[in-house]
Amino acid sequence: MKLTGIPASPGVAMGPVFLVETAELPVQETVLPEGEIEAEIERFHQALDRARQELIQIRDGIAAELGPDEAAIYDAQLLIVDDPDALRITEEGVRRERRNAAFLFGRHIGQVAARVGGAKDESLRERLADILDVERRVLVHLLGREHPLADLRVPSVVVAHDLMPSDVAQLDRDKVLGFATDLGGRTSHSAIVARSRGIPAVVALRQLSRAVKSGDVIVVDGHRGEVELNPDERSVRAYRVRRTRLEGQRRSLAELRELPAVTPDGVEIELSANLELPAEVEQVYAAGAEGVGLFRTEFFYLDRAELPGEEEQHRAYRSVAERLAPLPVTIRTMDLGGDKVASYLGTMHETNPFLGWRGIRFALHHPEVFRTQLRAIFRASAVGNVRMMFPMVSSLEELRRANELCAGVRAELERARVPFDRRLEVGVMIETPAAVWVADWLAKETQFFSIGTNDLIQYTLAMDRGNERVAHLYEPLDPAVLRGIHHAIHAAHGARRWVGVCGEMAGDPLMAVLLVGLGCDELSVACPDLPRVKAAIRAVPASLARGVAAEALTLGSAAEVRAVVHERVMPA
Ligand code: PEP
Ligand code: MG
Repeated sequence: MKLTGIPASPGVAMGPVFLVETAELPVQETVLPEGEIEAEIERFHQALDRARQELIQIRDGIAAELGPDEAAIYDAQLLIVDDPDALRITEEGVRRERRNAAFLFGRHIGQVAARVGGAKDESLRERLADILDVERRVLVHLLGREHPLADLRVPSVVVAHDLMPSDVAQLDRDKVLGFATDLGGRTSHSAIVARSRGIPAVVALRQLSRAVKSGDVIVVDGHRGEVELNPDERSVRAYRVRRTRLEGQRRSLAELRELPAVTPDGVEIELSANLELPAEVEQVYAAGAEGVGLFRTEFFYLDRAELPGEEEQHRAYRSVAERLAPLPVTIRTMDLGGDKVASYLGTMHETNPFLGWRGIRFALHHPEVFRTQLRAIFRASAVGNVRMMFPMVSSLEELRRANELCAGVRAELERARVPFDRRLEVGVMIETPAAVWVADWLAKETQFFSIGTNDLIQYTLAMDRGNERVAHLYEPLDPAVLRGIHHAIHAAHGARRWVGVCGEMAGDPLMAVLLVGLGCDELSVACPDLPRVKAAIRAVPASLARGVAAEALTLGSAAEVRAVVHERVMPA
């Protein structure tokens, strides 16, 4: 059986299926041996303590930024954590019934939730979400939350209904040959992480996870966006041949490694790599990149039970900066929200998470958490060539507030005589149409732009990048997108600022040429895409690229733009 989805990460993989069943925080009832009762009560106390500490940290941050009214929800949650009934009932239950605390606490909360959910008083019913939030927060600590892929032992192709970006980040590269999911889009974060890690992947396969069972054999073709279940011998042979051919192509591109990304008519492009995890730095060198144009830092915040501290972050940023020096590393400050949710930060269900509490909005709502990250980044700049940029900016006010926080951090570090790079460049990601239209203002108060086309496309074209139903609307060549990019570049250059592009669009060789033609100074792409982009830059004169871009800007549809780009660039 063959199914077609969306190609999310190139490469061909074949192997046994490892099916991930999605179960959320499974709480099992366990009978405790007599000797473990006190230890279980102690574990319960510790879980409550950790939940309390997290809530206090979140509440204080919000109170400082927005005032006590906004922070009140966390006070309400703290009352639930400190509820003497929950404590007494769970403790007594552990002693009397000899059951585990997670089960008893969950049972108690379930009863409270049923009462509250059925209440006539609406304000009481609204408490339900808080109660369930606290339950989850405590259970995460009690259960030590197992990773769904912990049982993966032999090299396999992972099949799941959906995978979170943090799941993909944790996949063991030696055991995961590839993955295929029912949901997702080409620029959903799981797909991006897969590409950067070189894991072949196909997403948006709709019913796949229902059609397979563990033990089936599956082929994932991440170029064509196809999967084939239990292929016959002839197909297997054909896939092997294809895989060998693709590997051969990759090897010949590797010869470009030491060569610069310069066009035949001498325009130098800074060609950098996108980095998802500190451990991937070696790939940046292997790909022949001139630095890191986007270091996503969300991995620090996802899939863990508590906030990362300044020291832990500092160590990671520092190690990346040190290993890359003198090459630059552009650290993107936290871009939580959207499809990257850290439950302990109090994120709640949102109907439109991509239009919600995301990126810089989220960071400015948690100034303490944000400041911790800023300090870690500034401190790391002492040992390397560090740049920093803010995601999802949609107004000058946001940029100013972020800049003010930076100024505060700089002053603090200076007072304490902690070394940092005083010339550290701070930039803004251009990811929203709003940022495009105020780009002239933003450019005056920042040092560079990096255009995040994944988001700029989704917001310009009003298509959710993670929703497979509208995935066909993802169109980097849409005139609305190209004009937005052109406008932002023009505004930046008018203020003598440089501009990069770090969205997936830059990883496509033809589009990269178009971006060079539009005037981009830097392109930052996933490592596996880098050699082909470099080959394209070295093959097409910038003068030709400029002509193609100028013509593209006069055209009314993506199809026309594509035709012109193909016709004029391909023969070169
Ligand atoms: C983008 O939006 O293009 C981008 C690079 O950021 P992310 O994909 O992390 O949202
Ligand atoms: Mg983005």
